[in-house]
Amino acid sequence: MTVTETALLEGVPDRLFIGGEWVESTSGRAIEVRDPATGLVLKTVADASVADGARALDAAVAAAPSWAATPARERGEILRRAFDLLQERREEFALLMTLEMGKPLAESRGEVTYGGEFLRWFGEEAVRIAGHYGPNPEGTGTMVVSHRPVGPCYLITPWNFPLAMATRKIAPAIAAGCTSVVKPAELTPLTTLLFVQLLADAGLPPGVVNVITTSTAGDVSEPIIADPRLRKLSFTGSTPVGVSLLRQAAGGVLRTSMELGGNAPFVVFDDADLDKAVEGALLAKFRNVGEACTAANRFIVHESVAEEFAERVTAAVSEFVVGRGTDDGVRIGPLINDEAVAKAGALVDDAVARGATVRTGGAALEGDGTFFAPTVLTGVARGSDILREEIFGPVLAISTFADEAEAVAMANDTQYGLVSYVFTRDLARGQRMIDALDTGMMGLGVGVISNAAAPFGGVKQSGIGREGGALGIHEYLETKYTLIAPAS
Ligand code: NAP
Repeated sequence: MTVTETALLEGVPDRLFIGGEWVESTSGRAIEVRDPATGLVLKTVADASVADGARALDAAVAAAPSWAATPARERGEILRRAFDLLQERREEFALLMTLEMGKPLAESRGEVTYGGEFLRWFGEEAVRIAGHYGPNPEGTGTMVVSHRPVGPCYLITPWNFPLAMATRKIAPAIAAGCTSVVKPAELTPLTTLLFVQLLADAGLPPGVVNVITTSTAGDVSEPIIADPRLRKLSFTGSTPVGVSLLRQAAGGVLRTSMELGGNAPFVVFDDADLDKAVEGALLAKFRNVGEACTAANRFIVHESVAEEFAERVTAAVSEFVVGRGTDDGVRIGPLINDEAVAKAGALVDDAVARGATVRTGGAALEGDGTFFAPTVLTGVARGSDILREEIFGPVLAISTFADEAEAVAMANDTQYGLVSYVFTRDLARGQRMIDALDTGMMGLGVGVISNAAAPFGGVKQSGIGREGGALGIHEYLETKYTLIAPAS
């Protein structure tokens, strides 16, 4: 580890953040956070017990009334200060994410920008929580529709975007006047711990955001979700865990937001600008080492251009530098752990057993860390596991289609519906695809679509609700309707 890395890690808090204070866990256990590029321990942090989870919820509940009553302008200004502080400290946050998650430093800097935008966006949205006022259609009274904070929230985030997945939930909760307990992933808790200290530095009052890190997510979460004082559960992660949390949330009829898995199709028509399609493909597939819910999972390419597309992406991918994300020029960092490497390998092996050809890569890399060679597969047959499951790794799998109807059928042949990418020069065809694809989001001619100002979310088993954009704050607001009798 470098001197800069050691100094940064020393400054990262290692305890639980409850009621505005850093407190020890009562479990007596600790979590070792490792660098996936080396396997070495970066830092040890507190491992929350069930009792710690209850304490954190107590703090969120205690702070809820005063935070809901805090003027929206004040809430927004705290978020704006947090945005400014994050800009000042962007290198620290970028390096920390690369250390604990593995993505190249340039991409971590991109995540600081993206994640920070939620602070700025929702800081601005806080003062625009509009209602509605007007006569009812019968003319017998005045209808008033207003919004108020939903109440204490439990926010669970994944490891793949340690900052942005946290700010995408925390910022709208703060803006709406909600308090929360945040549980980051066990594999990457450091960024959230550093971030909540930044929120406190920006002036966030004690108890508004509380953070628990734990190795027993299920045990600690269940009583929090079952507690009648909790009013909202927001989760980003895999679909199976989301389904189990929805079952638990049903008990208390909780408001829920679910940002779940994806299986994005990337459709290239014969009239596409291939330069743009290749550029989009490399971004949509290899950003974040392929470990993104928005990652293109299935490349569905017209049979007349499939070979040229494959040759071009293979030429580019063969040149990718693989290594620790902190090193210059690295395009592909390590996968998050051994299981991720084994999964990518199994999906490639299954595709090859069913007739696919490995054009480059195809296997894990020997040596320290959890690296998988960036891979291109062609001739991926229907029925292959890789077309059904999220790859979550640097594997670009190409299948072909003959006509538009077949492309639509292939693209929609999944339980997921988060995002789809389409490349065509034909505007009418592009419009038909917008209508035809079952997807919460779409990139038409682009390979990256995320934006704090846009509603992010999926249909089918990719989730419920939207984060970001004008809709994002409403995930944390209740609607109240009042009918006022006419003056007599
Ligand atoms: P995961 O295994 O579902 O875990 C996500 C979070 O849930 C982690 O904090 C995890 O804690 C926690 N968790 C696991 N089991 C739990 C339980 N029984 N009760 C309460 N919490 C529990 O997903 P992941 O592997 O971290 O993330 C990858 C998945 O997230 C992919 O499927 C990806 O598509 C999806 N994702 C979706 C979006 C989106 O916006 N739609 C964005 C990013 C990622 P531990 O770490 O302690 O297990």
